[in-house]
Amino acid sequence: MEDSGFLKPTPGFATAAIHVGQDPSKWNSSAVVPPIVTATTYKQPAPAEHTGFEYGRSGNPTRNTLEECMAALDAGKHGFAFASGLGATTTILSLLSRGDHIISMDDVYGGTNRLLREVTTRMGIEVTFVDFTVLENVEKEIKANTKMCWIETPTNPNLKVVDIAATVKLTKGRGDIIVVVDNTFLTSYLQRPLDFGADIVVYSLTKYMNGHSDVIMGGAVVNDDALAARLRFLQNAMGVVPSPFDCYLVNRSLKTLALRMERHKTSALAIANWLEKHPKVVEVKHPGLPSHKQIELSKRQTKGHSGVFSFIHSGGLKESRKFLSNLKVFTLAESLGGYESLAELPSIMTHASVPDKQREELGITHSLIRLSVGLEDVEDLIKDLDDAFKASF
Ligand SMILES: *Cc1c(COP(=O)(O)O)cnc(C)c1O
Repeated sequence: MEDSGFLKPTPGFATAAIHVGQDPSKWNSSAVVPPIVTATTYKQPAPAEHTGFEYGRSGNPTRNTLEECMAALDAGKHGFAFASGLGATTTILSLLSRGDHIISMDDVYGGTNRLLREVTTRMGIEVTFVDFTVLENVEKEIKANTKMCWIETPTNPNLKVVDIAATVKLTKGRGDIIVVVDNTFLTSYLQRPLDFGADIVVYSLTKYMNGHSDVIMGGAVVNDDALAARLRFLQNAMGVVPSPFDCYLVNRSLKTLALRMERHKTSALAIANWLEKHPKVVEVKHPGLPSHKQIELSKRQTKGHSGVFSFIHSGGLKESRKFLSNLKVFTLAESLGGYESLAELPSIMTHASVPDKQREELGITHSLIRLSVGLEDVEDLIKDLDDAFKASF
């Protein structure tokens, strides 16, 4: 295989996804597939003594199995599962107190933007949005009360790449600033933020990690024992926990994560290359293309890009509407990261909750379409896009 310049695949990744936390000897039945334990309470041998589990919110064997596996995939020590990606975010933000300050990437997931602006600020926490691709911007905003940097890389839907190692370096020695990286777009298969010194990696497991568009769940992985203890406390104290059934599904899905991400990666890159040559396409935003402004950073920090990317066409809202309605293999829908291909218009769908002015500044126009390339035959996907262009322009 030619050397693409991206990081090499992590040795043992697929093996860990299939075996870590899954040891059959931990179950009385020696079940090879971890059972779904639904019990909300556990028998105690004596008052206030327990055998590792006492109440379903504070711990559940099916959930622990998933958490252990997830942690291994990010080369972290502690994994956490939450009821949703935003549930994970809410819990992590609760590490902070009134008067603290967060610096967030400007181009974050719409729901994260809304949570920070409309909920977190009401708790007396200051939030500043900046473009982390220009680190001087971040440096200028660091104050005595800055306690967290929230980054997402690549960003949604502009596919900007943030330098994780450089962000970590910038915050070092500037007080206790927790660097959080939302790794939903790439997963631990393509990018491992803890390797670059990030403190917390957070996921919407709803997307690639589960990958089958049938579970809403969030996750986090950390290395530091003290930080893990604080998060474990909050997971139980705030109660934003997932069901054992859902944990079973996500754990099952991790078994094929490496295979799925490889396919998402190659199909999306093929489609991005095809789109770049299309006469109606003005720009393709895909961090695996040589034309991407930050391709070198992308190569240093990732093992390639996943299936989600955006493009800008030469039409306006009318053409976008027609194009999206004419797709037959791609489904017009929000979300991303499943086995099925999706297409959407962020300006009026996923990013409708971002204030008009901020959306304009971010360049999320009616001509920007986001794709989530699934696992179908790539020839069928390209033909679908081709037909939709012909029918709409
Ligand atoms: C979907 C998503 C979230 C929110 O996750 P939910 O599971 O929907 O709560 C957070 N970050 C990113 C990048 C996402 O795509």
